[in-house]
Amino acid sequence: MKDCIFCKIIAGEIPSAKVYEDDEILIFKDIAPIAKIHLLCVPKEHFAYLSEAGEGRAALLGRTLLKIGALKDELGLGDGYRLVVNQGENAGQTVRHLHIHILGGQPLPWGN
Ligand code: AMP
Repeated sequence: MKDCIFCKIIAGEIPSAKVYEDDEILIFKDIAPIAKIHLLCVPKEHFAYLSEAGEGRAALLGRTLLKIGALKDELGLGDGYRLVVNQGENAGQTVRHLHIHILGGQPLPWGN
């Protein structure tokens, strides 16, 4: 999609630190990491929100989660990791192309 930064990364028009790629998804390092390991997993197909995904993308979303699980050791996440999907304004979503934050490489505080 025109003017989508993640579509441009997927197309190779903007450089990224890729760590995994297949036909359906790309995983690359977040440019402003908030954990020792902070990756972004993006479907190559452009859509912004889970609420837009529809039944047609159910299998893609399932495969994406399973792939992250399968790659955990390769990605250095063997001691545990957290997945975050910011959706909409209140969640602070800044890029309107669905992406899963993958956080790990350190203990991750939860709550107070
Ligand atoms: P969100 O706030 O959930 O929409 O997350 C967007 C994420 O994309 C942020 O964590 C940004 O640091 C990250 N980001 C923005 N531009 C780039 C880029 N060119 N390469 C890698 N990560 C990026």
